[in-house]
Amino acid sequence: MPESAPTLSARWPAIAKPHGASTVVPNLVDYERTRAEFSWAQARADLDGLPNGRGLNIAHEAVDRHAAGDRRNRVALGWLSKDGTRRDFTYADLCDETSRFANVLKSLGVGKGDPVAVLAGRIPELYIAALGTLKNGSVFTPLFSAFGPEPIQSRINIARATVLVTTDALYRKKIEALRGSLPSLQHVLLVGETPSIQKLSGVRHLRSLMADADQHFTIPPTDPEDAALLHFTSGTTGKPKGALHVHEAVVAHHATARFALDFHPDDVFWCTADPGWVTGTSYGIIAPLTHGLTSIVDEADFDAGRWYSILQAERITVWYTAPTAIRMLMKAGAAAARQHAFPSLRFLASVGEPLNPEAVAWGVEAFDKPFHDNWWQTETGGIMIANFAAMEIRPGSMGRPLPGIDVAIVRHVGEDAIEVVEAPDTEGELALRPGWPSMFRGYLSDEERYRKCFVGGYYLTGDLAKRDRDGYYWFIGRADDVIKSSGHLIGPFEVESVLLEHPAVAEAGVIGKPDPVALEVVKAFVALKLGYEPNETLKRELLGFARVRLGAAVAPKEIDFRPSIPKNRAGKIMRRLLKARELGLPEGDISTLEAS
Ligand code: ATP
Ligand code: MG
Repeated sequence: MPESAPTLSARWPAIAKPHGASTVVPNLVDYERTRAEFSWAQARADLDGLPNGRGLNIAHEAVDRHAAGDRRNRVALGWLSKDGTRRDFTYADLCDETSRFANVLKSLGVGKGDPVAVLAGRIPELYIAALGTLKNGSVFTPLFSAFGPEPIQSRINIARATVLVTTDALYRKKIEALRGSLPSLQHVLLVGETPSIQKLSGVRHLRSLMADADQHFTIPPTDPEDAALLHFTSGTTGKPKGALHVHEAVVAHHATARFALDFHPDDVFWCTADPGWVTGTSYGIIAPLTHGLTSIVDEADFDAGRWYSILQAERITVWYTAPTAIRMLMKAGAAAARQHAFPSLRFLASVGEPLNPEAVAWGVEAFDKPFHDNWWQTETGGIMIANFAAMEIRPGSMGRPLPGIDVAIVRHVGEDAIEVVEAPDTEGELALRPGWPSMFRGYLSDEERYRKCFVGGYYLTGDLAKRDRDGYYWFIGRADDVIKSSGHLIGPFEVESVLLEHPAVAEAGVIGKPDPVALEVVKAFVALKLGYEPNETLKRELLGFARVRLGAAVAPKEIDFRPSIPKNRAGKIMRRLLKARELGLPEGDISTLEAS
């Protein structure tokens, strides 16, 4: 056993449930029984399907069936604009608007399977375009609005998008100069009304097209295997890949949200992820609507005070956010949270990166509730492993597999073969048995890479993990980030989590630095909290602090201070970039790097 393995679980006690005094009974109470009785066919039966057996369409499940039922006048989307105004869309409103959008596409000759890219901030038109595109049988391709021209160009071209929906400002800033190098693009639909843009060919104003369009639209027959969503991965480990998902994915969006986010009919849900990333679509658009909830959308960027006000004023019951955001809230201190009251808040969840135990526990300090970590990928389309509402949380663990999801730890034996590692607490690659509905159906333009993901009857995730005796999974690191030092396999997450326990540390990124003797040594990059000065004394203190907790073999040998740790726009630490910069190597694809 490598020395790194047991430290997190040994030092952070499990958080027992139920925590707090919620009167809501969790959806998943008996884990073993629910797993045993679960089937995807039954999960499919929880949805309606298109009338007259015409198939399964995400937008019908999310919008039309509620608009035709008793949730018709319930707020589906509560949109909070940057400037403080709000707009509510009931299910009936959303049905009309998305039908208009689908009719606009139809009138332009855009049909089944045609990719529709949307480059916009979190404005209502983004949500309407997403669902209207799905109604029309076209493929929704979100593009994160903060991307620069190059990543936009490559994604539109990989997707071969025929339509782009964007704002006037983004068009001016990022698209206008690119138009000549976007050969697939036939139509640009602008959300604003700037007259000078009107004259350009192929550019139309969405508002006038929508005004002329009929608010009734009959969703065409949709095969569950019809393409629906094209999501680009976050580019943490290399060039982003375009992962294709089909309409059947909605079965998983719906079922996983019920179990892992504990959706109940009266919930008011807030997913802070941008739809430019898969979380912001699977759980920021689709799942809350298939459940008929009210979903809150905030147009503005992160701001601790604003976020606390939203949680309080909107009476959020279920909140889904990410480790980077939680660490930023932690930086501002729990006292800021304590100035507010959150009597409605019932369930807190996080995804995207490993959630440090410190952050799980901080949830209790700030909200009287722990954060529930869960794990998934762009490729899996939905949550695969989670800490559930009714079960104890093991801080630092991703939790247990969802019903319907078979997870294994595997080891490579030769080029094209794996073996399943049965022994608990043993590191290996996290692998999933294919067959869940939201599994990606391909990487666009990279068939070979897609094929290579499947070995020995498993989908290989590229993440290393281990399972404990009780079936909880512990993330070690991405295969590319794991450090091999003097015969030990060291996960950067473990080392970063320990550094974060020190009061001076706001963020940490850990890499393996080549070493002639040890193969690699652990090197940490640390950003300090306000009020702390980088100096030799603090460096020595941090080295000692980590050594006491991790042991000499695992603790960092070197620490450098940085004003901030490089992250991509999805909020993930880019360790490969820290490494490339440390070694003076080329930086590789940095199209998703956050501006610092
Ligand atoms: P790329 O594939 O382009 O390198 P990416 O893997 O970061 O980017 P995503 O699909 O957005 O793109 O992220 C999925 C990855 O994020 C997972 O494979 C895992 O490494 C990490 N991740 C997500 N949730 C968790 C979690 N709860 N704990 C640990 N890691 C997580
Ligand atoms: Mg990935």
